[in-house]
Amino acid sequence: MEPSNWRAIWNIFRFARPHVWLILLAFGAIAGYAATEGAYLFLMKPFMEAFFKFLQAKDQAAVDVGAIDVAALRTVGWWALALAPATAALAFLEHYLADRLRTQLTVDLRNAVCRAILPQSLSFFEGRRSGDLMSRITNDVGRAQMAFQMLFSGIPQHVAHLVMGVAVAAWMSWPMLLIGALAVPVIVLPLGYLARRIRRYGRQGLEKLADLTDLMAQMFSGIRIIKAFKMEDAEAQEFERHNAKYYRKMMKMVSARGMSHGVVEMIIRSFIAAAIFLGVWLITASNAQIKLVNLLLAVGGMYYAFNATRKLVKCYNELQESMPATERILEMLDHRPAVQDAPDAAHLPRVERGIAFRNVTFGYDDEIVLRDITFEVRKGETIAIVGRSGAGKSTLTALLPRFYDVTAGVIEVDGLDVRRISRQSLLDRIAIVSQQTFLFNRSIADNIRYGRRDATQAEIEEAARLANIHDFILTQDGGYDMLCGEFGGKLSGGQRQRIAIARALLKNADILILDEAMTGLDAESETLVREALATLMRGRTTFVVTHDLPTIRSADRILVLKDGRLVGNGRHEELLAQEGEYRNLCSFQG
Ligand code: ADP
Repeated sequence: MEPSNWRAIWNIFRFARPHVWLILLAFGAIAGYAATEGAYLFLMKPFMEAFFKFLQAKDQAAVDVGAIDVAALRTVGWWALALAPATAALAFLEHYLADRLRTQLTVDLRNAVCRAILPQSLSFFEGRRSGDLMSRITNDVGRAQMAFQMLFSGIPQHVAHLVMGVAVAAWMSWPMLLIGALAVPVIVLPLGYLARRIRRYGRQGLEKLADLTDLMAQMFSGIRIIKAFKMEDAEAQEFERHNAKYYRKMMKMVSARGMSHGVVEMIIRSFIAAAIFLGVWLITASNAQIKLVNLLLAVGGMYYAFNATRKLVKCYNELQESMPATERILEMLDHRPAVQDAPDAAHLPRVERGIAFRNVTFGYDDEIVLRDITFEVRKGETIAIVGRSGAGKSTLTALLPRFYDVTAGVIEVDGLDVRRISRQSLLDRIAIVSQQTFLFNRSIADNIRYGRRDATQAEIEEAARLANIHDFILTQDGGYDMLCGEFGGKLSGGQRQRIAIARALLKNADILILDEAMTGLDAESETLVREALATLMRGRTTFVVTHDLPTIRSADRILVLKDGRLVGNGRHEELLAQEGEYRNLCSFQG
C-alpha cells in the first residue's frame, strides 16, 4: 500500500478514537465468531474418524460398533448444541456492533465536516465551487462510510477467518502452512498493482461526480435563465457529456476490479491444487503414516482460508475505492480557517471612540485592490463611500468585520487592531444590510431573529414596526410564521430589504454597514426603505456604500475611492469645490 494510504487509515482510526471501546468490542465479537467457526471444524474430526472406520469395515452392515467411540460422538453433539447460542449471540454482536460503529462514525463525520466548513473564511468559499463542497458532504461521506465498513467490519472479519483457517490447517498438518505462506506474496503483488489502478480511477470518477453535482447546482440556481433562453436541451446535453466522462472513469475502475477477482480466483484455485498435491506427497512420503482425516481437515482449513482471502480482496478493493474520498474529507477536517481569533483576543463590549484605517492595503489574490488607505471615523459619524464600480468600495467595508484580513496596514476599533479582537465580539458590534439581501427559507420571524437568537416575539415585532414591515407581515397568510421561500423568493426586493433592516435593528449593533442598500428599488419601496434606514442609522457609526445623492449629501463625511486609492475625504461641499474624482462622479450623476 502507498504511504498516503496508511496515513488515511491512520487518520480514520484517529477520527474513530472516541469509540475505542466500541471498536474493541466489535473486534472481539469478530474474533469470537471466527473461533466458533473453527470449533465447528474441530468437531468434525471425531465424526470423520468414525466415518473412515466405517468405510474400512469389510462388511459395512456389520460394522464393529465397539470400535467407534460412540460416547465421543455424543459429546460432539452436546458441544455442537452448546455452541449454538454462543454462535448466535456472537453473530448478532458482530453485525450489530459493526453497523452501529459505521452509523455512529458517519454521523460524527457529517457533523465534523459541517463544523469544519462553516468557520472557513470567505476566500475559502470563493475559491471553491459550491457543488464541490456539497459533493464532499454527500458523496464523500457516503464513500467514507464504506471505508468504515471495510476497516471495522469486512477486513477484520475476513482476516479472522483467514487466521482461523490457516490455524486449523497448520494444526492438522503443519506443511500445509507452507502453502499458505507461499500464497501471500503471489496474491499481494498483482493485487497491489490492480488496487492502485482502482484507487486512481476511483479518485478521477469522484472528481467527475463533483463536476456533475456542481453542474446540477448551477442549473437549478440559473433555472430562470435556462427557461428564458430555452436552453433545457443544451444544458441536458452538457450534463450528459459530463456524465459520460464519469462513466468512462468508472468503467476503467470496474475492469480493474473485475480483473483482480479473476486473478485471485486463478491464484486460489492453483494453490488448492498445490495443497492437494502436497497432501498426496505427504501420504506417499510418510508411507501412509499421516492420518487421512488430518489431511482432509487441513485441506478444508486451507479452503476456508482461501475463501476468506477472496472476500478480503473484495474488501481491500472497496477500501481502495473509498480511500480517495475519505482522504479528501479528512483533509477538509484539518483545514484551518484563514481568519481566526488570536489566542489572546480581546473582548469588545461596545464601541466607545471610533474606527481607524491606517495604511491599509489589500488584495484578494496577488492583485492589489486597495492601496494605502488611511482615515478615521468618530463614533456616531455617517460615512458615505463613493467611487466608480470596481473602485474597491465593497472590499473596504468587508475588511472591517474581517471577512478578509488586510494584506498590510491595520484597522483599529477604539485603538485595538481588529485582528486582536475576538471575532464573536467584533461581529456582535456590526450589522450589515446589502443590496443582495439573503433570507433563509424559514419563517419571517426566524429570519428577523437571526439578528439576535434570544429575541422575544414582542422584540421582533417592534423591530419590524421600526423597519416599516410589520403591517405588511400582518397581511400575509401565517403572518410572522410565513416561510420566505428559497432565497426569500416569495417577497419583493423592498420587502426583503426591510426584513433585513428589522434584523439589523434587532441586533442593535454600534457599527452599521450599508452596501448599496437602496439600489434597484421601486419608488414606493424606496420611501419605506429610506425611512427604515434612517431609523436604523440613528446613533450608529455608519458606512454607506451608495450612488444615492441625497444619502451622500447628508453624510457627515464622504470617502472617495478611485482604483483602490483614497482620493477624497470631506463633506459634499468641500469635495465639490475641488477639481477631481468627486466632482466627476457628481457631474456623471447629473
Ligand atoms: P466596488 O464595490 O467599488 O464596485 P469591489 O470592492 O466590489 O468594488 O471590487 C473591487 C475589485 O476587487 C474589483 O476589481 C473586483 O473585480 C475585485 N473583487 C471583488 N470581490 C472579489 C473577490 N471576492 N475575489 C476576487 N476579486 C474580487
